[in-house]
This record gives sequence, structure tokens and C-alpha cells, in this order.
Amino acid sequence: MTPRLSEPLTATLGKRAAGPLEKMGLVTIDDLLRHYPRRYGEPGTLTDMDRLQLGEHVTVMARVASATVRPMRSRGGALLQATVTDGRHELALTFFAKRPGALRPHEDKLRPGRSGLFTGVVSEYRGTRQLTHPDYVLVGVDADDDESALSEASRPIPIYPATAAVPTWRIQRAVRTVLDPLTEDDVPDPVPDEVRTRLALPTRLDALRAVHVPEAAQDWQAGRRRLRFEEAFVLQAALAQRRSAVAEQEATARPPRPDGEGGLLADFDAALPFTLTGGQRAVGDEIAGELARPRPMQRLLQGEVGSGKTVVALRAMLQVIDAGGQAALLAPTEVLAAQHARTLRAMLGPLAEGGLLGGAAHGTRVALLTGSLDAAARKEALLDAAGGEAGIVVGTHALLGDQVQFADLGLVVVDEQHRFGVEQRDALRAKARVAPHLLVMTATPIPRTVAMTVFGDLTTSTLTEIPAGRSGITSHVVPADNPRWMQRVWEKVREEVDAGRRAYVVCPRIHPDDDGDASARRAGAGQDFDEVPEFLELTEPDGGGTDRAPLRAVLEVAESLRAEPRLAGVEVGVLHGQMAPADKESAMARFAAGQAPVLVSTTVVEVGVDVPEATVMVVFDADRFGISQLHQLRGRIGRGADPGLCLLVSTARPGTPAAARVEALAATTDGFELATLDLELRSEGDVLGAAQSGRTSSLRLLRVVQDADLIDSARTEATGVVDADPGLGQHPVLAAAIAVQLDAEQEEFLERA
Ligand code: ADP
Ligand code: MG
Repeated sequence: MTPRLSEPLTATLGKRAAGPLEKMGLVTIDDLLRHYPRRYGEPGTLTDMDRLQLGEHVTVMARVASATVRPMRSRGGALLQATVTDGRHELALTFFAKRPGALRPHEDKLRPGRSGLFTGVVSEYRGTRQLTHPDYVLVGVDADDDESALSEASRPIPIYPATAAVPTWRIQRAVRTVLDPLTEDDVPDPVPDEVRTRLALPTRLDALRAVHVPEAAQDWQAGRRRLRFEEAFVLQAALAQRRSAVAEQEATARPPRPDGEGGLLADFDAALPFTLTGGQRAVGDEIAGELARPRPMQRLLQGEVGSGKTVVALRAMLQVIDAGGQAALLAPTEVLAAQHARTLRAMLGPLAEGGLLGGAAHGTRVALLTGSLDAAARKEALLDAAGGEAGIVVGTHALLGDQVQFADLGLVVVDEQHRFGVEQRDALRAKARVAPHLLVMTATPIPRTVAMTVFGDLTTSTLTEIPAGRSGITSHVVPADNPRWMQRVWEKVREEVDAGRRAYVVCPRIHPDDDGDASARRAGAGQDFDEVPEFLELTEPDGGGTDRAPLRAVLEVAESLRAEPRLAGVEVGVLHGQMAPADKESAMARFAAGQAPVLVSTTVVEVGVDVPEATVMVVFDADRFGISQLHQLRGRIGRGADPGLCLLVSTARPGTPAAARVEALAATTDGFELATLDLELRSEGDVLGAAQSGRTSSLRLLRVVQDADLIDSARTEATGVVDADPGLGQHPVLAAAIAVQLDAEQEEFLERA
């Protein structure tokens, strides 16, 4: 950053004006220039004062009749009250300030007899129409004549994210004060000249001017586009550098054993109770080929819920073990880690009983390492990992701990990556002498540009095919206030249980007296990464109706189901993140075994839980969950041969976005379609935030779905620039912008940790 941009605002604005901005985190000129308007007011139309409508944004040409400053007895501070007239009708102008002195500039300008344009939203106070803190241009003061006053007032009005202490017009004034004297030299451009020329983009300074002081709507639109491109470009350049750095690294090649030479993978494939889907084969070959190279694989495996990513990952792990290495599988929660260990052991059978009686001679072992192991179990797992007896080590973030050593870590598989940060991936990779291969699996399909933004340093493989033999899932919306439907829900659950199947009942809260979101935060805090906060995607009720019934809670619902006549004699289990790990384990086990065939839980069952006999899922307050979360939840059923039934209990009023979400879910099981819709309905911050990519702070304007074309071209351009100049020695401004962004990511990561 140039000295000019890093100057504190006090130097230009003075302490009084800069102080409140500083409280908003705007300390330097650069900070303020990056504080972009949230939207733009349409220049008001010139209005006949007789016709002013309450709430309307107007511009009136009028003459000042009077202006007086007086203290406010009731509220403290001071008030400037002016009256303007068009000759027949009057309009009041009101300005508030803490001190009378702050009103002096207005008082000086608003002299009786002067005329000008006044712009604001019409309100009413004690029967008088007024504009509060209007923007205005005075002829002979701010403009030479009527015409220039008019042109001044016909500009779009930038509306900034503001606070009560610093209203938007104060920010606007501050921005203009710092922006006006800047030259091209003061505002270096991370986008290289040749890229800018090729794409016909304005300079950074021009873009800032267009965004902050637009003359017309096209100005700020073009300015924004250019700044969005810049965000995408810096991000893609950072990712391109990351890719090129990894491509330089060495890895141990882990080629597959030639046919006929046996090994775990061959034995596993021979014993596999099903045929791999075409997609599983193709992606498997891709991965096998990459593992065989002496460069670290960096691959993202995304796939539809239930498409069978685990088998693909396991086969990759077995190839690595056959080649003498170990694999680590990182899961976001203890429940999921434990389940992965169980699943892998079950799938491997005797192959996972290396060194045990009855185990295969060349078998390996699956070690589970989580934060809650007792000392003895932990010691054994650590020894198995360090000694190499465990070919596969499954764990939560506990795997990142310093004491965890591997004999020869060859492959890191990260499951359900959206809960993990880039830094955690790096911490695990640092445990190998040479860079291990990396396979990241996402829980749900994600649109292409999101993959490019959030996982841009990885190459993507996609599984779209669902294994044959699934009977599919039917989903219905159930209105919560219809008792007949709700009775039918429990009858249906009963029928399924009687047929030997299982039902999940998902609720957004744990305790009935918790206040939803707030309790989520509490539950999330102090539990570090072992437990995902269970309400991650809870959305605000649309329309904010206060008449809504409180959200349903696990403990309350479990109790009422135990008293539900239709479920008499059926054991109802509970599962939530505040339970002790051993209790969670046993709840899952009793459910899986069918002893407690109804499980009331939070979204802790969202990711990856795999009980093939589960056929029914009842989701309470479904309208309060995010789309991808519901899709993920729904993926827990219909995993076996029996068809799944998902009942979305909703209190959403028809026609609201919440109702639209739930209906969309009932209408399709296509994850890509839902993911795109989800993005359209949610804000960007949520998307990237949920991805925990650490990139939220550096993206202010970019929208990953709508700006797909920008992201595409930014990626192409950035890759070109980095390929030609990997160290960016020729592009110091870009290099600096990347460094700033990485610092921000680092900071966010440290704050989270
Ligand atoms: P996800 O991609 O959602 O993680 P999983 O890997 O958990 O899906 O697989 C879902 C279920 O499908 C598991 O029970 C798994 O054993 C089974 N499965 C995987 N591949 C196949 C296949 N090719 N044919 C039949 N069943 C399969
Ligand atoms: Mg999975």
C-alpha cells in the first residue's frame, strides 16, 4: 500500500471527524475507500411540495425561509430547524447534533433567501412535513446556478453501511474529502495493466470514484464490477500461487500394485458386496493415477449425498497402504469420526485385523483418535499411528495435536471439508516428511464457481450417480398446526418401526428453554472443533412474526413421543452435542441396532451418519433450516433397499421464502439444483462463512453465483499472470494484495481457533 493510502484518516479529516469512523474500524484512507456503499438512492424527482408523500424519497427546489439552532431539552444535544418554501408551501428541515457547534456549517449555509435542492425522505412531525438530515446543494454556494445545482442533485446517492453515531451522509462527506485529492500514483492497482487493457477495465482510482461519487447509475455499476473483478482476481492469483507452490513440492509416489500381486486393495475389491458405479470407477482411476505420481495430489471429491464417496476414499487409502504408507481420515465431529472408524472396520472385515487372531496375514488396523479417549486407548492409538501398525488413523482435530506422529503419512483424507479451514489441512500435512497426497470430500454438491472460490487450489472430481438399488426418497411438507397430519406422521413412524426400520426425528434445539440461535452459540463455544455447533444454518423467521410457536426441542419432543400412544412400547433415544461422548456412542449404537428405533436428535446427524435401516425422517421447524442442511439431513435415510420418507414439518406461511425453501426440498432431490437455489436465497457471507474458508473478510462485493463470469475470467487471467511470473516479482502490488488477504485469513483462523 502506498504511504498515502495507509495514512490515518485523522491526518486528512481531523480528530473530530475521524474518531467516530475509527470506532467503525475505519482507520486508514484505504479502510474508508473500501467501505463501499451498500446501495444507491435514486436521485429524487423534483417534486411539487404540495404533493409530497410520506416515506417518499424526494428532491425539491426551494428557498430557505428561516434557520435556527436551539438546544434540545429532552434529549440533550442541539437541533437545527430550517424552513424552506417553494413560494406557496413550506417544508421543515431538521438536523440533530450532540453539540450546537456541529450544526454551525449548516447554519452558515442555510441563510434565508438562498435557494437550492433538498433531498431526503419525507417524514412528519407534529403535523408538519419534514426532511431529516437532508442532502442539499445551494445555488451560489455548492453550485454556480440552478442548472449545475440540478445536475449535482441528479446523481445517485451512495448509501453506506452506517451507525447511529456516523450516519451515511457523514461517511459520504468523509469519503469525498479523502478521495478528491488522490492521484493514480496514490492508488496502485493489483490488476496488471495488460489485464486491465485486455478487459477494458477502469483503473482502481477511477473505479473508486465511480463507486463513491457516481454521476449516473452506469458509473457505480461499472465501478463495482471492476472492484468485484479485482477481488476475484486477487483471490484467484493467491490460489494459483498455492497451486504452483504445491506443484513444486515432492511427494512419495504410491502406485497401485500390479494386477496379480495381491494386496489390500485387490482383496477388498474382491470381497466388495456390490459393484462400483461408473462414476466411482472413473474417479477411482483418476485418484489412483495421481497417487502414483511424485507430486502431491490436491483433489476435491464432491458428490451427491449417498453417491458413495466413502468407498472411493477407502480404496485410495488402501492403495497407499499397499505402497507402504499410512492414511489419515479427518472428520469434523466425534460422532462422525467414530462412525467412520466403525464403517471402515466393517467394510474391511478381516483386512482391518492385522496382527490379530483371525485377521488377514497382511491386514492393517484402523485406529480412532479423538479428544475424549481414555488414557489407555489414546496411548494405544498413538502407538499404532507412530509405529505404522495402523494403516488408517481416523480422528477429529485431535489428529492435529503435537503428540500425534505417523510412521509414514502418505494420504490425508478430509471428510466434509466445509467444517475445516485451509490451515487445519496444512497442520495435518505438516506431519509428513514430504507432502502427503490430499483428498478432500465435500458433504454436498457445490456449484462450480463456489468450488472455484472456496476450494480453488484443488482439482475437482464429481460423483453424480447414485448406486443402483436405492428406492429413493419421497418428501412431504407437513403443516405443523394440523393435528390430523401430525397424528398420521406418528402412525407412519410406527408402521416403519414395526417393519424393522428406524426413524430420525430432528429438532432445531436441545432444551425447550433455550432460545434457539443463542443456545447454538453457547453450545458451539467451548467445545472447540469436536462438535459442530448444531444450529449452524438456522435462518431468521421470515417476516419476523412474534406470534410463532417456539422452536421444537429434542428433550421436549422425546418426552412427548415417549407418551405418544401410537409409539407405545417403542424405545425413543436422544442424541445431541451436549451429551458425553460415550452417551452419544451408545445412543447411536442402540439406534443402529434397532433397540431404540426412534432417535430424536439435533442436526448432529446431519453429516455422514449411515444407518441403512433408517427410512423415515421427521424434521421439526424445517422452515428454519438451510436448504443444503436439509438436503444433507435427508441423505441419512433411504440408504438401503427400502424407500425413504422425509416429512418436513413446517410453520412457514405460504408464499414466504421459508415456505419456498421447504417446498423446493420436497420437490427435488437433485443436490446441484438445490445448492444453486440455496445460494440464490442466502447471502454470500453465509456461504463462504459456512465453508470456513477464511475468505469472508477479503470479499466485500463479490457474489459467487451471480458473478460466475467474473470469477471465470479472473481465474484465467490470474493463472496466466502467475504462470508467467510465479513469484510475482513483476507484480509487487498484486503480491502485496495477496499478502494482505492471507493475513486476513490467518487472523480469522486464529480468532476461530
Ligand atoms: P456419501 O457419498 O453420502 O458419503 P456413502 O459413502 O456414505 O455416501 O455411501 C452411502 C451408502 O452406499 C453406503 O452404505 C455405501 O456402503 C453404499 N454404497 C457405496 N457405493 C455403492 C455401490 N456402488 N453400490 C451399492 N451401494 C453402494
Ligand atoms: Mg459421506
